[in-house]
This record gives sequence, C-alpha cells and structure tokens, in this order.
Amino acid sequence: MTRAQRHVEIAGGGLAGLTVATALAQRGWSVRVHERGRELREIGAGIFMWENAVRVLTQIGAADAALARAELVDNWRLYDERGRLLQDDWMKDGKTRLFTLLRTDLHRALADAARDAGVEVVTQSVVVGASPEGRLLLDTGEALQADLIVGADGVGSPVRGSLGLDLAVRDLQDGCGRHLVSRLPGDPVGSTLEYWNQGRRVGIVPVTPDQVYIYLCCPAKDLVGREKPVNVASWTASFPHLADLFTRIPDVSRWASFADVQCHRWVKDRVALVGDAASAMAPNLGQAACLAMTNGYALASVLEDYPDVPAGLLAWETRQRPVTDATQRYSRLYGKVGTRWPGPMTDVRSALVWMAGRSRRWQSRVNVAAHEGAELVSSR
Ligand SMILES: Cc1cc2nc3c(=O)[nH]c(=O)nc-3n(C[C@H](O)[C@H](O)[C@H](O)COP(=O)(O)OP(=O)(O)OC[C@H]3O[C@@H](n4cnc5c(N)ncnc54)[C@H](O)[C@@H]3O)c2cc1C
Repeated sequence: MTRAQRHVEIAGGGLAGLTVATALAQRGWSVRVHERGRELREIGAGIFMWENAVRVLTQIGAADAALARAELVDNWRLYDERGRLLQDDWMKDGKTRLFTLLRTDLHRALADAARDAGVEVVTQSVVVGASPEGRLLLDTGEALQADLIVGADGVGSPVRGSLGLDLAVRDLQDGCGRHLVSRLPGDPVGSTLEYWNQGRRVGIVPVTPDQVYIYLCCPAKDLVGREKPVNVASWTASFPHLADLFTRIPDVSRWASFADVQCHRWVKDRVALVGDAASAMAPNLGQAACLAMTNGYALASVLEDYPDVPAGLLAWETRQRPVTDATQRYSRLYGKVGTRWPGPMTDVRSALVWMAGRSRRWQSRVNVAAHEGAELVSSR
C-alpha cells in the first residue's frame, strides 16, 4: 500500500530550512518554506564546510554547485602571539574533508536544489509560532495545518519560543567582523591560518580562486576591535606581521555577535527545531551550519521509517542530539580558551593548545561532528 503524501510547513529559508526542505521533498513530501525576507538570501562572507556537511550536499545533489569554486583545505594552522605554530592540522585526519567557500555559493546551491526538488518558497511570510498538533502560525492570523512543522527560524526562533522549548539563549559577548578581500599571489593556498593574541583572533581563509575571507574576532567589550571601518592601527598593534592584510579590508564591514542556544527538547509532538533555532553555537569549530544541515538531512531520512511523525521526531532527536550537544560543549570550551583566557597566562594557553594538537584522539573528540556525525548521514 502506498503512503499518502505528507505535508510539511517550514519556518525559515536559511541553510537549515533549505536543507531539510530539499531532503523531505526528495522523499515525496509536499513542502512549503516561509521566509520573512523579501527574497531568499544569505549574508556574511565565507564558511567552513566539514565532512558531515559535504556528505549532505552530495546526498541532496548540491555538492557540485556549492563546491565548484571552493578551497579544499589541507591544513588549518594556528599561531600564538609570539608567532609559534600551535596546530598544524587542527581537527583533521586523512579522511575528514574540509572546504571553505562563499556563503552565497552555498545558499544559492541549496536554494536551487530546493527548487529542483519542487519545494514551494513563500517570501515575506512571517511566522509567529506553532502549535504542537501541527499548525504553523503566521502574522496574518493564518494557521497552516501540516503533518510536520519545522522551526528553522534561527537564533530568535518564534517557533521555539511559542512552544516553550528554550532552556538557555545566550549572547556570548563575543563575535567577529567578517570581510572578503581580493586574493593576492602571496595568500595561502589549501590552508586556513588563524592567529591569536590575547582575546583577539584573526582568520585568513581562501574561499574562491579570487577571494579570501578574513575574520577578526574579539570580545564584545573590545569596542576598538569592533570599530567600523576596521581600526587598522589597533589590529596592527596586536598583529604587526599582518599590517598589510588589515589595509586590504574594505570600509564596509559587518560585526556578528555569537549566540548559544540550548533547548529542553528539539521536538514537541509534530514540531521539530533544526539549526540555530535548536543548537546555535559560536563558530569556533566551524560546525554550527554543518550540524544544521546534517540534522536537517537526518530528519528527512529518519522520518522515512516512521509513518507516525511524533514517534519519528523522538527517534531523530535521540539519534542526532548527542553529537550536537558534544560539539556545543567543545565550542564553548574553545571560546573560553580563545577569547576569555586570562591575559598574563597566554604561554600556558599556548602549551595546552599545542598539546591538544598532538593528540589525534582529543581532536577527533572535539570534531566529533565531522567524524561520527558524518557516519550519521544515511546513504539513502
Ligand atoms: C561569524 C560567523 C561565522 C560562522 N562560520 C561558520 C562556519 O564556518 N561553519 C559553520 O558550520 N557554521 C558557521 N556559522 C554558523 C552558521 O552561520 C549558522 O549556524 C547557520 O547560518 C544557521 O542556519 P539556520 O538556517 O539555522 O539559521 P539562519 O541562517 O539564521 O536562518 C534562519 C532563516 O529564518 C528566517 N526567519 C527568521 N525568523 C523568521 C520568521 N519569524 N518568519 C519567517 N522566517 C524567519 C531568517 O530570515 C533566515 O532566513 C557562523 C556563524 C557566524 C555568526
């Protein structure tokens, strides 16, 4: 007997919403995405995509488009304030791929995959909440009934708030400026470089053959570090050898603050939370979006085995959550070490980070999402 077509209403057309939408549509669901923006679009500069997300992109048929111009990263190098190399191959192993790419390339590839799979996208559609029995509530007063509701509506998720699933939603008082600069012959190839000095961090990340993504991280209270345009003198004082790099940064810059979301549950009856709505974390490990996509894909995959949606959602959360919870814990730890470490003790920090880099076991634990998380991307 064939199963009647199931319908899902999804709040949010970001990386999480588009991934889960495509994966469900490819499995026969009728899918509608509500995006509050005037159009589907992604802001920001570059993004790291680890093995788990690369497998998802491959499964939904978006890998070629998303990665066409991306950089395959051989090593992620970390240097301290004295120029000492602390990590040469941070969190990688021979099997774990890491790509760096433009956010816009990724988002466009996901949006195209969603359209090809038959997903309906409604823009300027503002979600205000959901009800556990499967209604998505819009600001127009409409209540849309579905077999499944997905809240992929980001850190401030109205879906999560309306169901009381929040445990803690925190502004981490930490963030970064994100910039794209033209790529020059002396820029790294196949490498991502990160430099630390006290609470400041600079990342140099090639993302296309022509562009390099630069991130300048600092605590929120470092008002000079957050200045727009970039305070070249201040950043040069922290990283003198990068003086030329800072002068390449365009005047237009964007500060993004980091948030951390913890939920009692990711599901309530027919409603599931995915992505930052469920599990936002500081981008210290480059895994928040990767996990958003991994968990979104897994949701569609697990529901294939469950005619009963609430039972399927419980099984999905049980299966996916441990890896995400562990990644959030390590991301918090990385933030404490990288941004909030007490000033005079940076040599101790360097020694600890150097030792962590020598332990393959420790690195695979920290990057459990790329290792074990990738195994959870079903091949169906
Ligand atoms: C500086 C920085 C760097 C990062 N780097 C990385 C990285 O290298 N690798 C990585 O894996 N992750 C990274 N992340 C994390 C990553 O950006 C997020 O995890 C990811 O974008 C979350 O996607 P999402 O779809 O869950 O949420 P969002 O991207 O926030 O998308 C939510 C969507 O829902 C829409 N929406 C919100 N409210 C409503 C509503 N009421 N009604 C309708 N629509 C609504 C929004 O307009 C938006 O389109 C980084 C984050 C930051 C801040």
